[in-house]
Amino acid sequence: GAALRLEKVERHYGDGESRLSILTGASLVLSPGEVVALVAPSGAGKSTLLHIAGLLDKPDSGEVYIGGREAGSLTDAERTEMRRLHIGFVYQFHHLLPEFTALENVMMPQLIRGLDRKEAAARAEQLLAYMRLGERVKHRPSELSGGEQQRVAIARAVANAPHVLLADEPTGNLDPKTSRYVFEALTALVRASDVAALIVTHNMDLASKMDRRITLSGGKIVEV
Ligand code: ADP
Ligand code: ADP
Repeated sequence: GAALRLEKVERHYGDGESRLSILTGASLVLSPGEVVALVAPSGAGKSTLLHIAGLLDKPDSGEVYIGGREAGSLTDAERTEMRRLHIGFVYQFHHLLPEFTALENVMMPQLIRGLDRKEAAARAEQLLAYMRLGERVKHRPSELSGGEQQRVAIARAVANAPHVLLADEPTGNLDPKTSRYVFEALTALVRASDVAALIVTHNMDLASKMDRRITLSGGKIVEV
C-alpha cells in the first residue's frame, strides 16, 4: 500500500478579505522506496504541505494517510505517537545534539521509543555504516563536516524505520559535490529501508535524479 497519501487536502490562512488559499485540493500518493522531489517557488505552499504530511499541522479539509492509517481521526497523543514512529524529518540545518556522538544521536529516537540500548546501538551502527560513516560513529557533530552532519541527521530520521521521510532542503547549505554525495547516500538508505521520501529542493541537478518531480500550482499538486 501507499506510504503516504494526501487526498484533496485544503489549507487556508486567515478569513474574509485576507483569506489566503494555500492548498486547494492537493492529492499525492507516495510508494515505499520512492524518492520524490517537490520543486516550487517560495510561497507556493511547500512548508505547509510538509507540515500537513508530517502531522505538524491539520488540513482544513481532505485526508492524510500514513502507512494506510487515516490521521484525521487520531487524538493528539496518537498523532504524536504516529509522528514519532512513522515519520522522519530532515531539515537544512541538522539539529543534532552537540553533546552526543553520531552513534548516540542516531540511537536517540529508538531510545525514546523504548528500545533497549544494545538493540538501538546495533541499528544505529548499521545505519551509519550505510551512510558511509562507519569511521565517524564516536565523533560529535562539531567534529564532522557539513556533509557528514547531514548524513547523521538522515540516519537519525530513518532510525525508527518510518513510512515517510520528509526533507526540507536537506542539502541546502552544502556545496554541489557534497550535495550530490549526501543525496546518493539518502537515496540508497531510502531504497534499503522502504521509506518513501518527499524532498523539497531547489537543486535541479538533484531533482532530475529523483524518481518523480512534483510542484504546487494554484494549491494543487502536479507532476512536472
Ligand atoms: P513555501 O514553503 O513554498 O515558501 P509556505 O507553505 O511557507 O510556502 O507558505 C505559503 C503561503 O502561506 C505564504 O504566502 C505564507 O506567507 C503563508 N503562510 C504560511 N503559514 C502561514 C500562517 N501560519 N498564517 C498565515 N499565512 C501563512
Ligand atoms: P566534506 O563536507 O568535508 O566534503 P563529505 O561529508 O562530503 O565531506 O564527505 C565525507 C567523506 O566522504 C570523505 O571521506 C570524502 O572523501 C567522502 N566523499 C565525499 N564525496 C564523495 C564522493 N563523491 N565519492 C566518494 N567519496 C566521497
